[in-house]
Amino acid sequence: MSSKPDATRPRAADTKKVHIADTQMTRQNWYKHVNWLNVTFIIGVPISGCIQALFVPLQLKTAIWAVIYYFFTGLGITAGYHRLWAHCSYSATLPMRIWLALVGGGAVEGSIRWWARDHRAHHRYTDTDKDPYSVRKGLLYSHLGWMVMKQNPKRIGRTDITDLNEDPVVVWQHRNYIKVVITMGLIVPMLVAGLGWGDWYGGFVYAGILRIFFVQQATFCVNSLAHWLGDQPFDDRNSPRDHIITALVTLGEGYHNFHHEFPSDYRNAIEWHQYDPTKWTIWTCKQLGLAYDLKQFRSNEIEKGRVQQLQKKIDQKRAKLDWGTPLDQLPVMEWDDYVEQAKNGRGLISIAGVVHDVTDFIKDHPGGKAMIKSGLGKDATAMFNGGVYYHSNGAHNLLSTMRVGVIRGGGEVEIWKRAQKENSEYVRDETGQRIIRAGQQVTKMPEPIPTADAA
Ligand SMILES: [Zn+2]
Ligand SMILES: [Zn+2]
Repeated sequence: MSSKPDATRPRAADTKKVHIADTQMTRQNWYKHVNWLNVTFIIGVPISGCIQALFVPLQLKTAIWAVIYYFFTGLGITAGYHRLWAHCSYSATLPMRIWLALVGGGAVEGSIRWWARDHRAHHRYTDTDKDPYSVRKGLLYSHLGWMVMKQNPKRIGRTDITDLNEDPVVVWQHRNYIKVVITMGLIVPMLVAGLGWGDWYGGFVYAGILRIFFVQQATFCVNSLAHWLGDQPFDDRNSPRDHIITALVTLGEGYHNFHHEFPSDYRNAIEWHQYDPTKWTIWTCKQLGLAYDLKQFRSNEIEKGRVQQLQKKIDQKRAKLDWGTPLDQLPVMEWDDYVEQAKNGRGLISIAGVVHDVTDFIKDHPGGKAMIKSGLGKDATAMFNGGVYYHSNGAHNLLSTMRVGVIRGGGEVEIWKRAQKENSEYVRDETGQRIIRAGQQVTKMPEPIPTADAA
């Protein structure tokens, strides 16, 4: 295999020069920052197509053919470039690889080798400066900007593409890329419409130029929309998101949060009702004997990711709530001091060795003022836990927000603290916040305590 110079790698003479992308854009040099070749292909050609469309009536057959060819070439990118070559999420027989390399070339998005290398860098360095289309640089940048403005190739993260260099189909397509583009992008769509029903010019304009424009814009949405719109059910530390709209636009590449978590899964959508025609195509090709070794993560692994993300969301919600001052941060009170203060009119009530200031709550007590007042200055543990009324979980939660101190040697608290220590540590979330589950408040006794006269 002869080593052709890699077009994306700077030549030796260039390495010392400052790349234009690393210089400030000014009124004098802005045009040097623009990648005019890409501008021509991505913006100029579609505009010329729109102008020509004004003079070429659209025939129904040509319209249907353009849509069919849109799916062929789009799937060349999603099933071929993306899921087969960039991620190796399945294996394909030689005829299928040739087919995907051809129709993928007809989408005019660069060679497989170039595309897959950038895409691997995108996965490896998502959202960083080494991500070739980082959404952190703006939605428009991730959609188009990264192609229409010159990039310093040295900035893009390095990835291993030795497997691609060993695939003769990939190498052949890379070497003959311009021929593939012209043939598959323009000549084939024109030939079908011309030989089929005599609409040569319509085939060129609609199934060729304008179809290329739509396929390009649709697949560019994977880099922009899929990192901007939707939910993050598996991980929210990076930008990829799941959304049905993105899926509809991108032939099923819209479950992008899942995809970044499980990139070598041949699926993007894991639910049967989600739209993923790329997955359906690969599966159908498997039934036809064209594709094999379809990779799939176990649902156990997928659910673990989902549960962890849910847990994170719960932790964030929990952290925003007032759970009362932690016991170890409360001042220690002598029992006599507690009784004394209660006698002097402070609404203090001790439950399970924790002192609560209920002064402002007495008038709001659902069980009446008299009931709560009868516990002031006393050990109300039993009263609160079934002796008088077996208080609800909500009541224990509310009570905890009124904590002001702990009684020295206050039986229950000490026992509880020791028990917690013996169980190694408190249950904490990932930010170190203690988790207090329903019924596990320090004031809660495991069983209702009956009153003496009820017995
Ligand atoms: Zn992505
Ligand atoms: Zn990917």
